[in-house]
Amino acid sequence: MKKLFLGMATLALLLSSCDNDKSTINPSQDIDMSDFTVYTPEAELTAKTADGKSNKKACYTMNVLNRQLQENPGLEQKMYAIEYQTRKFIASKKPEGAGNGGGGNGETDVDVLPIDDNLGTINIPVYIHIVYPDASTITDDQVTTQMATLNDDFVNPHIDQLPEGTTFANDATNAGFSFSVAGVFRYNDPTSSWGTNDAVKAAYPPITPETHMNIWVCNIGGGILGYAQFPGGNPSTDGIVLGGAYFGTTSGAYGLGRTATHEVGHYLNLRHIWGDGPCRFDDFVEDTPAAGSSNGGCPTFPSVSCKSADMTMNYMDYTFDACMYIFTDGQRNRMRALFQSGGARATFVSN
Ligand SMILES: [Zn+2]
Repeated sequence: MKKLFLGMATLALLLSSCDNDKSTINPSQDIDMSDFTVYTPEAELTAKTADGKSNKKACYTMNVLNRQLQENPGLEQKMYAIEYQTRKFIASKKPEGAGNGGGGNGETDVDVLPIDDNLGTINIPVYIHIVYPDASTITDDQVTTQMATLNDDFVNPHIDQLPEGTTFANDATNAGFSFSVAGVFRYNDPTSSWGTNDAVKAAYPPITPETHMNIWVCNIGGGILGYAQFPGGNPSTDGIVLGGAYFGTTSGAYGLGRTATHEVGHYLNLRHIWGDGPCRFDDFVEDTPAAGSSNGGCPTFPSVSCKSADMTMNYMDYTFDACMYIFTDGQRNRMRALFQSGGARATFVSN
């Protein structure tokens, strides 16, 4: 009976808080969730590895999300709730008459809509679990350079690197995150390849994922550079997994540590910039242009799809590390929404 009473009280509270919230956001802005999807079509996942394009970055995040959605029937609803909170937060920060946007056509400049969330630079403490037959092969220098890359990419807009002819300088931004090492753990483990089913996380569980980001560095296998878990997933698998060859400053096309930047983007609720589908699929970010598919390598500007230049230099595309160097204002807003009161990662700032 007590339980029932509490339940009804909670419901009443929810209803009344909904009413209150409605009055604080622009009444012309309903929260449109009609485009929200969580499953990536199987054909799109297959296409990423079988479309014949070379030099494509192999991020397994969307494949892992599909698996987790099948394993956990409650996850879709959780992610819907996080998306609703995200859109509501962003809408609440827009001035009167700014509209709900959401077209992803690159026309909306949200520079005029700065998110003043009073959180300043949000620091994310990081636990790093290095799991290799000889864990010392992943050096302290790799740890140091990886952290330096994250601390640069989430603050420096890198506008000076943009090619002539883009208008993307209006969108490139300081996302306002810093990263600090809370601990580095090395485990000598004979497992030669961990795959993408979170086995490495089961063997070496995350530490306080509600207040720390956990990174596992191991050999994933299958040509996979890394994968992340979106907010809303099981805490026991929360974090990102990176192949050691792409962790920190190494060598080759993915040797600047930006696989981590990309995966942390997913961890902070960013989708791939092309929306994991053809033009009509969106990444739920206003100031990133629609794109028909991923870009790989180091494209010459402009790379056109969906009648506009793709933002190939966005961290959430699949381009080479040296050729991806911006987040946008809209992406910043999505990431920071998680840390507001009621956000999926608010425990990072309230503890
Ligand atoms: Zn990805």
